[in-house]
Amino acid sequence: VPTTPLSQMSPDELTAFLDAARSSYDDLTRRGLSLDLTRGKPAPEQLDLADGLMSLPTTTTDSTGTDVRNYGGLQGLGDLRDIFGELLGVHADRLVAGGTSSLVMMRDVLVDLWLKGGPGGGRPWGAEETVKFLCPSPGYDRHFTLTSWFGIENVPVPMTDEGPDLDAVEALVAEDPTIKGMWVVPTYANPTGTVVSDAVAARLAAMPTAADDFTILWDNAYALHHLTDTEHRSADLIGACAEAGHPDRAVMFASTSKISWAGAGVAFLAGSEATVSWYLHHLGQGSIGPDKANHLRHVQLFGSADGVREHMAKHRALIAPKFAAVDKALTHSLAGLGIAEWTRPKGGYFVSLDVLPGTASRVISLAKDAGVALTPAGSAFPGADPEDRNIRLAPTFPPLDSVVEAMEAVATCVRLAAAEKLAG
Ligand code: PMP
Repeated sequence: VPTTPLSQMSPDELTAFLDAARSSYDDLTRRGLSLDLTRGKPAPEQLDLADGLMSLPTTTTDSTGTDVRNYGGLQGLGDLRDIFGELLGVHADRLVAGGTSSLVMMRDVLVDLWLKGGPGGGRPWGAEETVKFLCPSPGYDRHFTLTSWFGIENVPVPMTDEGPDLDAVEALVAEDPTIKGMWVVPTYANPTGTVVSDAVAARLAAMPTAADDFTILWDNAYALHHLTDTEHRSADLIGACAEAGHPDRAVMFASTSKISWAGAGVAFLAGSEATVSWYLHHLGQGSIGPDKANHLRHVQLFGSADGVREHMAKHRALIAPKFAAVDKALTHSLAGLGIAEWTRPKGGYFVSLDVLPGTASRVISLAKDAGVALTPAGSAFPGADPEDRNIRLAPTFPPLDSVVEAMEAVATCVRLAAAEKLAG
């Protein structure tokens, strides 16, 4: 493996590199791979960890005597809110435990804002001519498609190592009253792994906004999903917003999708007292209560906040080796060539790979032809990746040996696409 940066190679060296890359790629296509690194799904072994749910709950009531089989309890079972309130850093009164999907809760919140206006009694967003949302990018594709589905104009803002680029954010929100909110994944962001610092959260909470119902959708999907010994604590945006005099600015979301079962877990929403009553008021128009039996079986599976922490350590033991394998394969094949950079996340579900500008879509199509499915080019950006350089890798679902195989294949495609581009 030559480690001269491609940009410093002589034309002859580059031609030789391109020929070698073509021949490795031809070998790769002959292997008939069928691998998928597209979505951040837990592997079957991770789901097995929560198979205790199959025989729970063992009682029909929680610790307060609530019969989980009956209607009622719109806010969700108190025992479960106690456990997850502790883990998420919010009081159980300010936490709602709902159905299986936090994305559905995000959609609910946007529907309520759209039709009824926010907790502060502002105009329904749907009555506005233009509504814009800030989208720190690269970010989570489903966030961007959700706001876009409302007809909201997604405005990309760059990500830094500490979270969204606040100079850009502050300048935009101060001037433009049509910017009604923004997406943030505060802990181990999808896909960059970035953790928002307390300082960034304090600025987000305090910044003046031209829209007085400016709302931050704070999606803490990976709050507890550490890949190292350090349990990075999430910044407390809800508390910071209360302190800064904008108590209703933050709505937090989380779920057990990657703690228990992705298809049958519990999702959470948290916010100010006014936000929680506003959400429950609208929710109550269509629901007499959530699946409290599912809440109770989660209480019985975990027992306590520490029970959840111990459970997450088991996830980590299963997936940290896959992340290490990604780094090892990329380092082995790409280090020193000046054609790729990638993240080494301390938590979450993704690695963000930046290839030579202008080659990400080529890499993805080469990989597809070689039997390796990657998330479509540009999907981590609203609209398109302006530099065509970002690729999101999701290594949790395939078995370890497939992750290794897939990453070697991806590296081969990165080398070929870069050599083609530079050899012109
Ligand atoms: N938010 C983020 C940032 C995610 O990456 C995902 C899953 N990929 C979700 C939300 C989905 O959450 P849920 O399963 O609770 O709907």
